[in-house]
Amino acid sequence: MVQTPANNMMQTDCDSAKPPAGLLSTEPAGRREIRHAAVSVVISLLVFAAALPYARTQLVQIPAFIPIYVSVLVVCDLITAVLLFGQFSVVRTPALLLLASGYLFTAFATVEYLSIFPGLLSATGLFGAGPQTSSAMYMFWHTGFPLAVIGYALLKGKAFKPCWPQRLMRDRPPIAIAVAALGVLALVAGFGIFATQGHAYIPTFLNGNRTTDIGRMFLFGVWALSLLALVAVWKTKPHTVLDVWLLVVMCVWLFDIALAALFNTGRYDLGWYVGRIYGLLAASFLLIGLLVEDIKQYQRLFQLSVKLGEANKVLANLARHDGLTGLANRRYFDEYLAEQIAIANRFHRPLALILCDVDHFKGFNDHYGHQAGDACLKHIARVLKSCSQRPADLVARYGGEEFAFILPDTGLQAAAHMAKEILSEVSRLGIAHAHSSTGSCVSVSCGVSELVPPMKAPQLIAAADELLYQAKGLGRNQVVSAWANI
Ligand code: GH3
Ligand code: MG
Ligand code: MG
Repeated sequence: MVQTPANNMMQTDCDSAKPPAGLLSTEPAGRREIRHAAVSVVISLLVFAAALPYARTQLVQIPAFIPIYVSVLVVCDLITAVLLFGQFSVVRTPALLLLASGYLFTAFATVEYLSIFPGLLSATGLFGAGPQTSSAMYMFWHTGFPLAVIGYALLKGKAFKPCWPQRLMRDRPPIAIAVAALGVLALVAGFGIFATQGHAYIPTFLNGNRTTDIGRMFLFGVWALSLLALVAVWKTKPHTVLDVWLLVVMCVWLFDIALAALFNTGRYDLGWYVGRIYGLLAASFLLIGLLVEDIKQYQRLFQLSVKLGEANKVLANLARHDGLTGLANRRYFDEYLAEQIAIANRFHRPLALILCDVDHFKGFNDHYGHQAGDACLKHIARVLKSCSQRPADLVARYGGEEFAFILPDTGLQAAAHMAKEILSEVSRLGIAHAHSSTGSCVSVSCGVSELVPPMKAPQLIAAADELLYQAKGLGRNQVVSAWANI
C-alpha cells in the first residue's frame, strides 16, 4: 500500500486508544439515553402484557400485511446496516463490522422470506418453496441476528489483529464491507437453497396455519438465543449509546418472538400481528438513534464550520498585523505594496511611499526603558493611523521603530505634505525625550518616494530608504522626498 499522509493519519487514528467521539458506537450512554431506552422497554412490556391474554384470538387474514411489513423491515434494516457500516469505516472494529453484517443479514433474510412466503409472489412461494420453507426461513432469520449480536458483544472493545487478512479489513473498510456483504449474501442464499431444495429434511414446524410442538420447541430455542444476546450485551459494561439501543432492540425482539411464535396459535392471530409490529419497532429503534445521531453530527459540523470560519478570520488578522501596534505587519505590507504597484502600473495611476523612522530611539529606550519605548511606538502608530484618510492607504510597521505608509493614487507632492503632517502630529504628542538632538520631544524622520514605471517594490522601498537616510543626515525631524526637501 502506498503510504500517503492521509492513510498514515488514518492508521495513527486507528492505532490510538482513543475512539472517535460523537458516534453512537463510541459515545458512552448518558442518563438521557438510558431513560429513553427504559421508557421504550416499559411501554413495550405494557403492550406485551395487554396483548398476551388475546394472543390466540384469530383475526381477519390481511394478505397485504406481510408484504407491507417485510418491505418496511427490509428498508429499515438496510439503512441501519449502511449507517453501521459507515460507523465501522470510521471506528474500524470487528464488533461493529459484525453487527452491521447482522443487520444486512436480517435485510437479506427478510427479502428471501418475502419471496418464499406462500400466497405472496406465487401461491406456494417462489423457488419451489414447500409448506415448511417460510417457517424454516423465519427460524434462520431469528437465529442469525441474535448470533450477530452475541458476536458483537464478545468482540466489543477488541481491535483487528495485526495478521494480514485482519489488517486488510482494518485498513481498507470498503474491502471489509464488500467481503462481509458477500459472505452474508452467500449465507442467506445457501440457506434459501436448503430450505427449498432440502425441504424434506426440515421438521414440520407448521400444520396449516398452526405451529406444531416441534415448531414451538425450535421457536423457544430461538427465543432463548435472543435472551442470551440480551444478556451478552448487558454484560459489556460500560455501555455505549449503541449498546443501550441494542438492549432495547433485543427486549422488543423477545416480545416479538414470544407473541408471534410462542404464545399464539399460528399465523394471522392477534399475537402474530402484534409480534410483527414489535419486529418493526425493533428494526426502527436503532435506525432512529442513528438518524438522530446523523442530524446531531450535521449540527456539530455546522457549528464547527462557523467556529472555524471565525478562527480563520482571527488567524488571518493575526498573520497580517503587528502584535504591538496593531498596524499591518511586514508580510502584509509586502503583499499589499506589490498588489498596489501592479494596479498603479496597469491604470497609469500615481503611487507614493513614506518610510518613517523614530529619531534616536535607542537613546529613548536606554533612558526610559523598553516598556516606555513600546508605549511610545504605540502612540506613534496611532498618529500614523489617524493620518491615513483613504480606505486604500495602508500604514505598516516596517521594522523595529520604522513605519511605512503606502499611498495609492497619491502623487509625490501630496505624499510629502502628508509626511510633514505626520512630523507635526508626532511632535504634538509631546513625548519627552531627554537624549534627542532634535529637541526635548520624540520626533521622526521621513523619506518619500514615488513610483516611476517600470519600478518594482524593492526599488521604490530603496528610494524611500535612501531619502530617509538623507533626512537623518540632514539633522533628523524632517521629510526628504524625491520632489523637494520640505
Ligand atoms: P536613528 O535616529 O538614527 O534612527 O537612531 P535610533 O536610535 O532610532 O536607531 P537605531 O537603529 O540605532 O535603534 C533603533 C532602536 O529601536 C533599537 C531598538 O532597541 C529599538 N526598538 C526596535 N524595536 C523595538 C520595540 O518593539 N520596542 C522597543 N521598546 N524598542 C524597539
Ligand atoms: Mg530610529
Ligand atoms: Mg531604524
